[in-house]
Amino acid sequence: MIARGTFGIVDAAIAERIAAIAGADNCSRARAERELHSVDQSMHPPSLPDIVVWARSAAQVSEIMRLANANRIPVTAWGVGTSIEGNPIPLHGGILLSFERMNEIVAIHDEDFQVTVQPGIGYKDLNETLARYGLFFPPDPGANATIGGMIANNAAGIRTVKYGATRDNVLALQIVLADGRIIRTGSRSVKQSSGYDLAHLITGSEGTLALVTEATLKLAPITQHNIAVQAVFDQVADAVDAVVAVRGSGLDPVALEFIDSHMAAMMNSSPNVSLAESPQLFMEFHAAHAETLERTMAFIREICQDLGATQVLATADNKERLALWYARHHVFESFQRLHPGQRAYLNDVAVPISAYPDLIACIDELRIESGLPAYLLGHAGDGNIHIIFPFDDEAEYRIVDAMNARVVEKAIELGGTATGEHGVGMGKVDFMAAEHGEALELMRQIKDVFDPRGILNPGKIFGA
Ligand SMILES: Cc1cc2nc3c(=O)[nH]c(=O)nc-3n(C[C@H](O)[C@H](O)[C@H](O)COP(=O)(O)OP(=O)(O)OC[C@H]3O[C@@H](n4cnc5c(N)ncnc54)[C@H](O)[C@@H]3O)c2cc1C
Repeated sequence: MIARGTFGIVDAAIAERIAAIAGADNCSRARAERELHSVDQSMHPPSLPDIVVWARSAAQVSEIMRLANANRIPVTAWGVGTSIEGNPIPLHGGILLSFERMNEIVAIHDEDFQVTVQPGIGYKDLNETLARYGLFFPPDPGANATIGGMIANNAAGIRTVKYGATRDNVLALQIVLADGRIIRTGSRSVKQSSGYDLAHLITGSEGTLALVTEATLKLAPITQHNIAVQAVFDQVADAVDAVVAVRGSGLDPVALEFIDSHMAAMMNSSPNVSLAESPQLFMEFHAAHAETLERTMAFIREICQDLGATQVLATADNKERLALWYARHHVFESFQRLHPGQRAYLNDVAVPISAYPDLIACIDELRIESGLPAYLLGHAGDGNIHIIFPFDDEAEYRIVDAMNARVVEKAIELGGTATGEHGVGMGKVDFMAAEHGEALELMRQIKDVFDPRGILNPGKIFGA
């Protein structure tokens, strides 16, 4: 066996053994295929795997892991590569194990509001099928991410304020350990108090502890009546007060999004979008009865106006509702319109809601100091914020990278976290010690128990 540093590599003999396990049609050492799987949607540099393998079953994954473990070959799992922190980049080469071809629905337990799936199914594809049962899987990261990738990153999204992140919607997992053992953890009971909660430890572990080969998930009923609300404020602090008041009202928003004046101006570059260029909230509420939503609409208007909203648009009209969300969902297109040819550095932090104004003040300071634009939007209902920094070249990249670091440090200082939903990947490694202190060493020890030879997605969460 040939070695790369302390890791083994996939030479011709190992490649042949992998092909014997997975089938020749499910393996590729072609440069083009390796390049396609060398980078995610982030600005982190690519790194080529030695081989791309498409898994078809847990039994195959188990055999591949046994072979990789014996030869200390790195194995990096791949959903569809939509991560934005370098999470699935195979930093140390080795086997890139794609789950795209394990994309079946195993069982729909509609009477229990649950589904069991293979990890490679896209959540949007899953929801298309579940709609026939009046059900859906609520976490919604935007791109058609796979369930395996969402579990590994503990992905979240606009609806997290009501339904929680992916972790809150995972009941049970089938996993394959680094040594090839196939384990089931969790159960189909929504209440579980039985021993260590391994299913939720695996969730958010970015493929560094085990590989997910099957997942049982919680579902929610699709409600018939929806309203969208846009509330515009002069001051960020007023918008934040409204976030707290709406959450405290018991009205249970499905979405509660903050958009700063710079972001509103950027969104206006999309066709047919004309937002007030001020801090504002986009909200959505669902209910089983139209009358409930009428009362909600009146109450929300009152709350926002009492807190100084200069404009409140509340609509049950589906066309108007979708038009409002169109602007929010097409942020990256508006970025490209406003900054043609430039790249986007995307920040992701989360703080307690009361700390939102302090965090935003810090970003305002950085904007003034650097003279560079920064656009803010956030899942304000759960304290998550994203900043988009445009950059042109290496010199600007270094400036926005330093701005990102200042924001992350500020979020941690305010009692928050370096990442609300994108995960640690490569981009947040340097902040782990500041955020977790001694707990980071305990995490390292847990990693050693699951993966003593360090072959699962090496270089992530803990760095080199
Ligand atoms: C335009 C855009 C918008 C986005 N918006 C959001 C958002 O609002 N919220 C959010 O949370 N994220 C968002 N993301 C990030 C991304 O979509 C999510 O992190 C998503 O969960 C990644 O899923 P994936 O299938 O692409 O996984 P990948 O990127 O392929 O992999 C993600 C991680 O999961 C691991 N992995 C994959 N499959 C398995 C498996 N079966 N077992 C173990 N580990 C596995 C990989 O090794 C990697 O560490 C966005 C991305 C884009 C491009």
